[in-house]
Amino acid sequence: MRLPLRSALLGVLCLVLSNPSFASAYNARPKLIVIIVIDQFRGDYLERYRDQFGEGGFRLFLDHGANFTECNYNYASTMTAPGHSTLLTGAYPNGHGIMTNSWWDPQKRRSVTAVEDDATRLVGIPGEAQGASPHNLMASTLGDELKLATQGKARVFGISLKDRAAIFPAGFSADGAYWIDGKTGAFVTSTYYRAQLPKWMQDFNDQKSAEKYLNREWKDSDGHVLRVTTVKDGRPDFFESVGSTPFANDYEFDFARALITQERLGSGPVTDLLTISLSANDILGHAVGPDSVEMKAMALAQDRQLAEFFSFLGQQIGLANVWLVLSADHGVAPVPKVAAKLHIPAAGLDDEKRQALLNQTLSTTLGKKAGYVPKFDYPFAWLDQRAFTPLKMKEEDAERAVGEALKQNGMRGYFTRSQLAKGDVPNSELALKYLHSYSPHGGWYVIGVPPPFTMSAEEGTDHLSPYTYDTHVPLAFYGLPFQPGTYRTHAEPIDLAVTLASLLGINAPTHATGRVLTEALAPPRHAAAGPDPQMDHSPPPPAKIQPSGLFRQAGTN
Ligand SMILES: [Zn+2]
Repeated sequence: MRLPLRSALLGVLCLVLSNPSFASAYNARPKLIVIIVIDQFRGDYLERYRDQFGEGGFRLFLDHGANFTECNYNYASTMTAPGHSTLLTGAYPNGHGIMTNSWWDPQKRRSVTAVEDDATRLVGIPGEAQGASPHNLMASTLGDELKLATQGKARVFGISLKDRAAIFPAGFSADGAYWIDGKTGAFVTSTYYRAQLPKWMQDFNDQKSAEKYLNREWKDSDGHVLRVTTVKDGRPDFFESVGSTPFANDYEFDFARALITQERLGSGPVTDLLTISLSANDILGHAVGPDSVEMKAMALAQDRQLAEFFSFLGQQIGLANVWLVLSADHGVAPVPKVAAKLHIPAAGLDDEKRQALLNQTLSTTLGKKAGYVPKFDYPFAWLDQRAFTPLKMKEEDAERAVGEALKQNGMRGYFTRSQLAKGDVPNSELALKYLHSYSPHGGWYVIGVPPPFTMSAEEGTDHLSPYTYDTHVPLAFYGLPFQPGTYRTHAEPIDLAVTLASLLGINAPTHATGRVLTEALAPPRHAAAGPDPQMDHSPPPPAKIQPSGLFRQAGTN
């Protein structure tokens, strides 16, 4: 009797020792983290279409994951570059520095994008086009911390149709950030990451992987044609034509599968990280608005595409070895005409018209005709410092004058750069959102406080307000450390990186201010509960979180 008991005890001891905690970046638990960011996916969409989702896509998160229903960005600059930076730095623009997609550069006297970088060149298309990098980012990302913790052993990649949405989530130390050439759809990168495309990527482009999505009909479930991906005027424009259909998501997932397979993600000695930003929702959403039949069809198509991709991950790596996260970079406003029909005050006016009105007002009040605001990205006004020189106006006075002109042209209020830099704002929830939006990039500027449901678009709709339709986004986790359930507690996108860093046992990104979402963490498993499912390369994970039918759809690759 003694020997069997001893060996049984030894067995338990071995299990305990081999499984000191449920996760650690240092021993590849999990093997791979995939963060899916849907560009312009509002927090209410998941509930709106829940009944029509199938198994294994969004419902992997809703039914088998930890789903936070009340996640809001606590800032005013709800757009793509800030949103993607926020998710992976765990900080707001006052920490990571990326407050808008582009800003006025007083030295270059033109608008520059948040990622353009004179020191780099594009890689993957002929010519010497300017490249891009995260050089304007002022904080580390989750990927950077993972790299630091594992002495570079972790593999980190970012994918999107858009440069900024691939680059910022991936961070400084990424092995690659890949986005597309808008004209042809070919996947590219920049010399910041590498001098040449890897061979598998060159092959992917050479195989006309993008072209197969041109001249296709996108139909809804009733067979109605919603869009045709035609080439306009004989000129290819992959970004606009394919980009506004679910084919763009198919294309991104084709690329993601190739990357995971060729780079052997999830097979190394430590945890790997992949971020995938799906751009199609945003490109379509701006044109047709959140309440259109097209956006519903897009969400339902995306549901199946996610299910197929997760099934691929299950086959390739085993879902028990993967953590999945779902979120978005911002929401979107209803189309003004749609809101106005319900008697909600709503309006859209073109940026250039607003800019002209603003300069007219300033020319009158300052007594001198000039282009004081050379660039207006509603509700951001970028000032030309030189226009104020003859008036001997200092930054504070110039910005205040522009702010007052913004108020005369329909804004409810304003915050100036100099005011935000000093933290000189009223003690209010609204002011806090603008403090979080501050960045030292971009010279002099003023951020207007827009009335709700107003925007720059005369047709279609937009985002970039501090209101819930723009701030409310999904935040959901799937994987062994998470206790499945619906969580209606306060959450913010800055919690994502902090929660994952804590679970991985690594430092949070440098400027992170989020919290660990402890209410959604599963209790640590004990050896007595049985063998560690993370050691098993094949699915399923524990029955409770194994969606039925998920692996029956396998076989697309
Ligand atoms: Zn976006």
